[in-house]
Amino acid sequence: MRLVMLGPPGAGKGTQVEILCEKLSVPRISTGAIFRDAVRKQTELGKKAMLYIDKGNLVPDDITDLIVKEHLLDTDCKKGFILDGFPRTVPQAEILDEIMDEMNMSLDAVVEIDVHSEEIIKRLEKRRSCPKCGRIYHLIFNPPENDNLCDDCNVELIHRKDDKREVILNRIEVYHEKTEPLRGYYRKASILKEVDGEQPIEDVLNSIMKMLNID
Ligand code: AMP
Repeated sequence: MRLVMLGPPGAGKGTQVEILCEKLSVPRISTGAIFRDAVRKQTELGKKAMLYIDKGNLVPDDITDLIVKEHLLDTDCKKGFILDGFPRTVPQAEILDEIMDEMNMSLDAVVEIDVHSEEIIKRLEKRRSCPKCGRIYHLIFNPPENDNLCDDCNVELIHRKDDKREVILNRIEVYHEKTEPLRGYYRKASILKEVDGEQPIEDVLNSIMKMLNID
């Protein structure tokens, strides 16, 4: 299955994509995770991307498109993939269509997880993540077993710079302005599936699986 997961920051895309990738045995391509890894390693890409990520702005399309293309060609994407965080603009969606055409493939579905802005702020302000494995926690709803340490790695959890309030507000604005138009784009292509992201994680997953006819 070839899927795109859409949704505002904090909608729970990463959580759902992780579970779905395991169920479907397909790779996950997360542009946010690729950028964060490059930032951690202080590569040229990381240094460039950091300038945008820390402010909650989008990394320019030319940089992002190239990375996605490389991953789609490199990773074992023949049997499918899930894109998490890409596309985020209409020009990126057009590029993705071109790449799919070149690979003689097409997208099966685009799942959009809907969450209101107030809920996003609540979620992201209390979100913590493991800098080593990327596991996500929420200080109230899904806290780590030991104070601020990753259950898996025992590494101190971090509050991502882009999960601070003023950056969150900008990320939400950017989402409305740049990413929401993708709804119309994929609705026109008749592949958009919308799911209520304010349900418990398990229910969001079940709704997605039902929409996609996954057992
Ligand atoms: P995420 O983890 O998906 O929320 O992404 C974190 C940050 O990485 C975003 O706020 C952007 O700065 C950058 N980013 C991720 N994906 C894209 C994309 N498709 N286009 C531009 N910037 C992106």
